[in-house]
Amino acid sequence: MPQFDFDLFTIGAGSGGVRASRFAAGFGARVAVAEERYLGGTCVNVGCIPKKLYSYAAHVREEVHLASGFGWKAAEPTFDLAKLAANKNQEIERLNGIYRRLLEGSGVKIIDERATVVDAHTVEAGGKRYTAAYILVAVGGWPVKPAIPGADLAITSNEAFYLDTLPQRVLVVGGGYIALEFASIFNGMGADSNLIYRGPNILRSFDREFSAMLADEMQKKGVTFILNADITTIERHGRCLRATMADGTVLEADCIMYATGRAPNTHNLGLEAAGVKVNAKGAIVVDGYSQSTAPSVYAIGDVTDRVNLTPVATAEGMAVANTLFNRRPTTVDYSNIPTAIFADPNAANVGLGEEAARAQHGEIDVYTARFRPLKHTLSGSKEQVFMKLVVERASDRVVGAHMVGVDAGEVIQGIAIALKCGATKAQFDATIGIHPTAAEEFVTMRTARKPAA
Ligand code: NDP
Repeated sequence: MPQFDFDLFTIGAGSGGVRASRFAAGFGARVAVAEERYLGGTCVNVGCIPKKLYSYAAHVREEVHLASGFGWKAAEPTFDLAKLAANKNQEIERLNGIYRRLLEGSGVKIIDERATVVDAHTVEAGGKRYTAAYILVAVGGWPVKPAIPGADLAITSNEAFYLDTLPQRVLVVGGGYIALEFASIFNGMGADSNLIYRGPNILRSFDREFSAMLADEMQKKGVTFILNADITTIERHGRCLRATMADGTVLEADCIMYATGRAPNTHNLGLEAAGVKVNAKGAIVVDGYSQSTAPSVYAIGDVTDRVNLTPVATAEGMAVANTLFNRRPTTVDYSNIPTAIFADPNAANVGLGEEAARAQHGEIDVYTARFRPLKHTLSGSKEQVFMKLVVERASDRVVGAHMVGVDAGEVIQGIAIALKCGATKAQFDATIGIHPTAAEEFVTMRTARKPAA
């Protein structure tokens, strides 16, 4: 008789939990996964996937407007958000089904209940107790709004995906990924979209020039940036919301959306009973193998607040499965993780920004290119592309690559492989470009920018 009901009990069937469970089962472990909400977690249901679909939707209007430069005559398009939401919901249901089949096909038992930790080897779900050699906590995070009067009148990205009518005037609060993506989405769909950020520069920890370029391009497309600004109170007046700002000005809107970060979902999870330590933000404290302070409890993904990205959570999930059930202790390499902001235009990067590279490497060379892409010579759009390489002078290694422009995420994914391999600027230069693309600029930037006097 095995000592425990399961070898692994995973709480949370998001990207990380599903990956870890499937791989663990593949290595021969007896695995259960409990999920209280939806299979696929944030990414599939209210994150990456619907966001990307909405950003495609938001782009269509501009494409129609640009068509005349290419000889097309198109009528002014009209937009039906309810139709988009319904189509999106249908696609998500399909993905939920795929996740269920993938888990079941791997032999993982799915428990459609909220689970809590009872002790270091016991979990409770749906009124039943289960024991496991290892517990994996992969419960993700949840959007947070600042505690201001009237905050309950505002939505977060979770609700934004279920709006049936497009608000005419939107205030999006925040200067991170979600705020920029949604400000672009609302703008593209035809709303009057305003981004309110408390500081002077959006994307605070990113390369300064890259962030500024993205802000400029988004403003050119119609998003209004309200910087150094904070909402102190929200009130409802009939069908309209009134936001009073810290400086006393009042802004009216039909919808206010907060994108001011996400908090780990550790509340009331019973972690203390198992001896699992959480930090001041509520994130589970783990070591390089994702092991918590309770040796039989592991945690991965956003609940650990390391690098809160889906592919990182899946890498952590695979590493845990290998460590526990494949006799291959595995850590995740967090260096050179590429990311993209699916705003309009897209922006993506890998490695260090200029400021961080200077602080870390001292002497650096910076190469930049700013140009109008070929498509817009006929489209009439004033959109520009920006590219930047940051090179450590002593080694000639490229330590940062940044791009603002169409399909930046697609381009930077390839560049990230080069950085992961430690490519030098000379190797970038020795690479033949694909002509005519925007991406070829990354291998043709010959002259370093002169240092500021
Ligand atoms: P971020 O942490 O990226 O940004 C939060 C923003 O809100 C920051 O600009 C922050 O300002 C601001 N902020 C925080 N608290 C307050 C406050 N009390 N009042 C006003 N402004 C505030 O969070 P997001 O919500 O955008 O995204 C959450 C996470 O999800 C990200 O960290 C990211 O890892 C992930 N994500 C990734 C995506 C992708 O890869 N494309 C897409 C969406 C999300 P300040 O900078 O001054 O602190």
